[in-house]
Amino acid sequence: MTRRNLITGGAGFLGSHLVDRLMEAGEEVICLDNFYSGRKDNIRHWLGHANFELIRHDVTEPIRLEIDRIWHLACPASPVHYQSNPIKTAKTSFLGTYNMLGLARRVGARLLLASTSEVYGDPEVHPQPESYRGCVNTIGIRSCYDEGKRIAETLCFDYQRMHGTEIRVMRIFNTYGPRMLPDDGRVVSNFIVQALQGQSLTLYGDGSQTRSFCYVDDLIEGMIRLMNGDHTGPINIGNPGEFTIRQLAERVRERIQPGLELTTQPLPQDDPLQRQPVIDLARELLDWEPKVSLHEGLESTIAYFRERLRAGR
Ligand code: NAD
Ligand code: UDP
Repeated sequence: MTRRNLITGGAGFLGSHLVDRLMEAGEEVICLDNFYSGRKDNIRHWLGHANFELIRHDVTEPIRLEIDRIWHLACPASPVHYQSNPIKTAKTSFLGTYNMLGLARRVGARLLLASTSEVYGDPEVHPQPESYRGCVNTIGIRSCYDEGKRIAETLCFDYQRMHGTEIRVMRIFNTYGPRMLPDDGRVVSNFIVQALQGQSLTLYGDGSQTRSFCYVDDLIEGMIRLMNGDHTGPINIGNPGEFTIRQLAERVRERIQPGLELTTQPLPQDDPLQRQPVIDLARELLDWEPKVSLHEGLESTIAYFRERLRAGR
């Protein structure tokens, strides 16, 4: 029998790439999304396929489905999106994860939570291993997301301890690639779209803060290995190559239009100064490491946005 997968947030950036991988492997996929930051276009190519179903639903409401695996990705990931309705973001993380764990328990499904490097907050330990407990402001503008993911992790482990629910917890570091929204607000899509439109690139702060960028294909491979393996996690999945935001801007500009200006805007509150994953656990337990360099990943992401802007989408 083919495996029945529920992907919450399946019409979003990461979710739609996961849909592709599972559909290509011949599995059954139920894509559940409320289209808050996802788009039907991302999964349109599967509509009508016998193994695919699309459900418009909000994970803050319970749902009953017969499934074997839950890939729980539903939650806006861009600061612009998750801060536009922070109470909803906190509800999505808490109630959404609670509802999906309830479903997993009821039908005996395994649940993978898409957690985040944001559980480390503005880290005092660098790079960040899974054992680091983080430095999160409980009352700032990022807290709805950071604390939401922290309680989501807590719920997973309490369901495991109380009910024996099978869980997998993945801490995702900044990931980029085709199907990010042009107005998503995250740095890679912002810089590429600005450069393609001949605008200056907007550095928040002086651009000395760092991030480590993982290409989407690598990320999805890590996600699948974690779900299929025996290890609960939490496990960091990300690319350890660390860059300042200014370096990223320079790389994007150099590939698209070298003469463009870099302008500065105020650094948002609680913006983490540095971020880099330790991926020893993923290497050892999942035999996983990223393969796509920032250079290659930017090439295909730029090609995607170039085509999308040309087509006016
Ligand atoms: P995204 O915003 O593109 O996708 C999120 C999807 O969830 C969207 O399709 C959205 O419509 C849907 N959604 C949001 N709230 C919902 C709700 N209440 N009910 C049903 N659907 C809902 O973001 P993404 O980058 O694809 O992120 C996917 C997951 O991975 C998120 O949980 C995010 O926190 C996590 N993550 C992503 C990154 C990254 O760099 N991309 C980093 C860390 C963690
Ligand atoms: N950033 C920036 N210019 C932009 C968008 C973001 O300098 O146009 C910075 C942002 O302040 C942060 C980094 O880039 O330091 C990554 O931002 P993003 O929103 O992509 O992810 P997160 O902060 O959640 O890691």
